[in-house]
Amino acid sequence: MIEIANLTKRYGARAAVDDISFSVPPGRVTGFLGPNGAGKSTTLRILLGLDRSDAGTALIDGKPYRRLRYPLHTVGALLDGAGPVPERRAIDHLTWIAQSNRIPRQRVSEVLDAVGLGGVAKRQVKKLSLGMGQRLGLAAALLGNPEILVLDEPVNGLDPDGIRWVRTFLRDYAAQGRTVLLSSHLMTEMADTAHEVVVIARGRITAHGPLDEITAGH
Ligand code: ADP
Ligand code: ADP
Repeated sequence: MIEIANLTKRYGARAAVDDISFSVPPGRVTGFLGPNGAGKSTTLRILLGLDRSDAGTALIDGKPYRRLRYPLHTVGALLDGAGPVPERRAIDHLTWIAQSNRIPRQRVSEVLDAVGLGGVAKRQVKKLSLGMGQRLGLAAALLGNPEILVLDEPVNGLDPDGIRWVRTFLRDYAAQGRTVLLSSHLMTEMADTAHEVVVIARGRITAHGPLDEITAGH
């Protein structure tokens, strides 16, 4: 369970995240929807302990996230930014993460197969297509078979087939009683994916509920 309460983060005088509160229950996919610059990544980074809040809390199972206390089997994340080393082979990237997190080596081939990258495991990261790269990021997030999956713009740049695949994958994952939170700046990406949507604009939550109820009001 993810619980965000009165979270605020300022950059200079401006609040990137301004007193937001929402919770994300297990067993469903929750979307975090808002235009670029709305404050989604900032919120997710604080949730994952990569940044500090100025006020309020972002809790995972009642506590702030700490890598040492919550290893990869609690939370898997796919964030923008620091990607894999381009020269490295896909399988080596995952093996390295597995090793540094004491995850058994056999799990690497399991996640490669789970995301459909089994056939290109030995390809260098820079030779993967955009969609394959996204799947590799997802594979890394899944290494610990986490209870909670946090994905920042996971379908950015994917083709329709890729989007359909991620959609089905996330719904199935949530159906196993896990918590899935994914951000997007596109309403269309939430349709048929997120059971519920939290809408953020200019650092504030403007709506929260099933997507059809939210869109019906506009
Ligand atoms: P989103 O993920 O919804 O696109 P962000 O959380 O990345 O939005 O950004 C929210 C706001 O905070 C934006 O106005 C952005 O420019 C600003 N911001 C984000 N990170 C920083 C930073 N490190 N320094 C200054 N401003 C930042
Ligand atoms: P280091 O601190 O030396 O980078 P880490 O064990 O923190 O080593 O991280 C190793 C790799 O695992 C990095 O690529 C990092 O991005 C990735 N990683 C860390 N935490 C997570 C997570 N919760 N989900 C997915 N990947 C993660």
